[in-house]
Amino acid sequence: MKQSKLLIQTYREAPRDADVISQQLMMRAGMIQKLAAGIYDYLPLALRSIRKFEEIVREELVRDGCQELLMPVVQPRELWDESARWQFYGRELLRLKDRKDADFCLGPTHEEVVTDIVRKIIKSYKQLPINLFQIQTKFRDEIRPRFGLMRGREFIMKDGYSFHVDDADADREYWRMFEAYKRIFARLGVKFRPVEADSGAIGGSFTHEFHVLAGSGEDAILSCNACEYTSNAEKTEAPGLPFGYASEPVLDLKRAHFHTPGIIAMEEQAKAFRDAEHNGLPLDHASKFYLYRATRGDATWDAGLVLRSDHDPNTVKLKNLIGADSIDLVPLEEAEKRAGTKSGFIGPVDMDVSMYVDRSLEGAYNLTCGANQEGYHHFGFKPDRDLKQMKGFHDLRMAREGDVCARCGKGTYEAFRGIEVGQVFKLGTKYSQAMSCVFSDEAGHERPMVMGCYGIGITRTIAAVIEQNYDADGIIWPWPVAPFHVHLVSLDSNKPEIASVANRAESDLEAAGFQVLHDDRDGLSPGVKFKDADLLGMPLRLTVGAKGLKDGIVELRDRRTKEVTKIKPEDVVAAVKAHRERTNHEGTK
Ligand code: ATP
Ligand code: MG
Repeated sequence: MKQSKLLIQTYREAPRDADVISQQLMMRAGMIQKLAAGIYDYLPLALRSIRKFEEIVREELVRDGCQELLMPVVQPRELWDESARWQFYGRELLRLKDRKDADFCLGPTHEEVVTDIVRKIIKSYKQLPINLFQIQTKFRDEIRPRFGLMRGREFIMKDGYSFHVDDADADREYWRMFEAYKRIFARLGVKFRPVEADSGAIGGSFTHEFHVLAGSGEDAILSCNACEYTSNAEKTEAPGLPFGYASEPVLDLKRAHFHTPGIIAMEEQAKAFRDAEHNGLPLDHASKFYLYRATRGDATWDAGLVLRSDHDPNTVKLKNLIGADSIDLVPLEEAEKRAGTKSGFIGPVDMDVSMYVDRSLEGAYNLTCGANQEGYHHFGFKPDRDLKQMKGFHDLRMAREGDVCARCGKGTYEAFRGIEVGQVFKLGTKYSQAMSCVFSDEAGHERPMVMGCYGIGITRTIAAVIEQNYDADGIIWPWPVAPFHVHLVSLDSNKPEIASVANRAESDLEAAGFQVLHDDRDGLSPGVKFKDADLLGMPLRLTVGAKGLKDGIVELRDRRTKEVTKIKPEDVVAAVKAHRERTNHEGTK
């Protein structure tokens, strides 16, 4: 492909509203353009990468017997009423009316449509299991579309759905898709991790997210350095922690006047206690207390959480433990009113609410806590003795880097940042029951199908590849999704002797199956052409210029290592082949 004919405009500067590297580089490299907030044109270079990744996904899924179909973007309200999501999906669902005033939405996901397809066609256990997928444009009216293709409103997703006779078969398929996803991301040529995740609002019994590792990732991940356990930090099991004061005598709960005006952070309180020589309390003797309001459907109730002062509360764990749909802190003013004191002195003792205590406080005593009276704290606090509505010790804190792994007990957690690019989900019968997607089993009984769903954000993945693979000069494409393999730069391309060597190299490489972008543009300095080549980031740059040709050579340059090899024009194909073999998956290491 001749660059002089390519629809492309490159820029030296990133647009002001581009917040992340992938967005800056894709815009500077002329891959995408913004049409509206969260809505982008995929220009020819971007589309080549997108299509290559789609092809990897398609090949691996078809290999596993998944069938491809294509479902409509525009979906009728009736289906969404059946699943009750017309009401519950919220404002990410873009709703619209047709000329007859009938309600429709733009599909943010396709559980309803695929369930409708399957219930119309599949009637018997003999037709199960089945696994269907599509690669389709989705629309989600995200509150804050940002980061270019990472969080768009319109984006391309691969979404797959499987249907089974029972739980066991759905589990089997779950793990098969898990393995397929590992193959897909390994073939992509990036560093990634499958991560245990919280199933959140979609529901379902277990789920993994696939993350491309990148410093700019939105998600915190903790991974054990000894075993396989890797999970989203909001879900990572935190180990219980031993206390170092088993030899201290157990004190009674005592109220101590301890004026700590303005001291609210518990670390400061503990230090103040220590300084005041109230038992010389170490930090892990200080507890802290949060009052939450939980909701589920129309029900609302309050719950208290007690944990060590230097630990962070994990509201996802608490929410799951008490079976709430959502929890929020009780507004401060209200909490102060309930406790009859100001913040800083609010404590769990005597509070009339269920108390959940983090397991790092199991067996702990001689703790401090607010005494619900201004200027006063308790010390000698022992949760299981002193809390009236004690609901036990549970894992309720955020695990953190350096904690001993709660699974294997041997390694410690290391922290990474990741970009969620895919997710496998066991859905169970949520949709099949709501939409009566049933089959008759061997005994002739009607049963709901058990479902799984499997998504990959195609366009987000392309952006994530760049977040992981770039340098100060531009993008560094891994071979499998590079728009072109070789960027052939001819200098003084209007000179016939240069054009003939360059065109020859282009056609030889193409004949050998390589994709070549030939910068044949006239009248540009070598510096400008090289800058563009670095920005666009094809794995190899091949330079054909008068100086080299005088010595009978052309230059092959590795975009990642910047290593330059001088070769004879007739050796170009062999050299590119050797490079491909060597580096095809180097980014995964
Ligand atoms: P997130 O928590 O990031 O909003 P999600 O959990 O809502 O993602 P899913 O419903 O599981 O996402 O969608 C499957 C995949 O689609 C995600 O793993 C992600 O790669 C991609 N995706 C989701 N939302 C967007 C978006 N707004 N822009 C681009 N890709 C997206
Ligand atoms: Mg989302």
